[in-house]
Amino acid sequence: MRIAVTGAAGFIGAKVVTELLDRGHEIVAIDNFDTTYSAELKHERISRLEQREGFHLITGDIRDERDVRRMFDPRPDAVVHLAAQGGLRKSMDEPAAFISANISGFGNVIKATVDAGVGTMVYASSGAVYGGTPGLPFREEDAAAFPLSLYGATKRCDELLAFTYAHGAGLRCTGLRFSTVYGTDGRPDMAMYTFARRINEGQPIQVHGHGKMVRDFVWGDDVARAVVLAVEDTSEFSTTPAAGGPRVEVASAPWRVLNVATGRQVELMEMIRLVEAAVGKQAELVLIDALAAEVRENRMDVSLLGETLGFVPTVQVEEGIPQAVRWYLDYLARLAG
Ligand code: NAD
Repeated sequence: MRIAVTGAAGFIGAKVVTELLDRGHEIVAIDNFDTTYSAELKHERISRLEQREGFHLITGDIRDERDVRRMFDPRPDAVVHLAAQGGLRKSMDEPAAFISANISGFGNVIKATVDAGVGTMVYASSGAVYGGTPGLPFREEDAAAFPLSLYGATKRCDELLAFTYAHGAGLRCTGLRFSTVYGTDGRPDMAMYTFARRINEGQPIQVHGHGKMVRDFVWGDDVARAVVLAVEDTSEFSTTPAAGGPRVEVASAPWRVLNVATGRQVELMEMIRLVEAAVGKQAELVLIDALAAEVRENRMDVSLLGETLGFVPTVQVEEGIPQAVRWYLDYLARLAG
């Protein structure tokens, strides 16, 4: 297949493209090398991809309709949409940036997808959509009506926009609600890497929620595989309450959302212990309250993902965190050297 991928220079995007190329697909990608974190790291990822046959890059911005439309000539068979602004706190401080990239940008991509007559779109949503939803673990059928961060709200908004095009234009839309993704070649702005750097430098680390917050850390390469399974899935599906759809009857639409996580809960303190062990130094902890935008416990039910796509996570934190930390410390050493 020819597959269009947005956000291909990103942490998850580069892994998804690698996996798709390995499986013989041709890729047309777009990224604007946004400077939220090192644009150099993104260029490194793209340089690796550019050595592969079947990879084409458009340097462009999804907020610009003309850039987006360049991905559709010639027409791809499917679209994977990953480009977005990330970060809970940042989203509360810079709403306009998040709304324009995550909502208007999404609108441009989905409209161009429909206009080009492409039948399938897989896009990144987030566990942040659940926010204050009562009842754990979070299931797709939960209302997800109360995200706690503007970031989560933009992702929930994307799911709703996707529904309108699934319903109105028959576009097969799969929204993947990723939990906390980590791994090698990761996003240096995420807590795990900041902790590793500060512990290594002997600096104190701020531990939100007094270390009691619970997260589901999912390995980046596993997430990439889930994305690929969703793109290659040709089965028919339609809106059902179990797949996060409305409980009232509407004309059926090829729309679903799926949790992408491991199903295993890890306390923040446990993650820090694993980072300490990987760094080989003890952390100096500054325990502080959680931000209002942070969910205390993010436990996600992954049975639907297993049932529908046959996904099984392969890497758990005991194996993954040492690898992620080693990659990051090597990366810092390379930058310094
Ligand atoms: P990332 O920041 O590494 O990747 C996003 C990519 O999109 C970057 O390369 C960036 O340059 C690009 N981008 C941003 N704005 C753009 C624009 N306007 N036009 C073109 N390109 C643009 O982040 P990631 O961790 O790889 O996340 C990928 C997707 O998964 C995002 O949609 C994110 O919200 C979602 N997600 C990530 C996590 C996580 O833990 N990493 C969790 C839940 C959901």
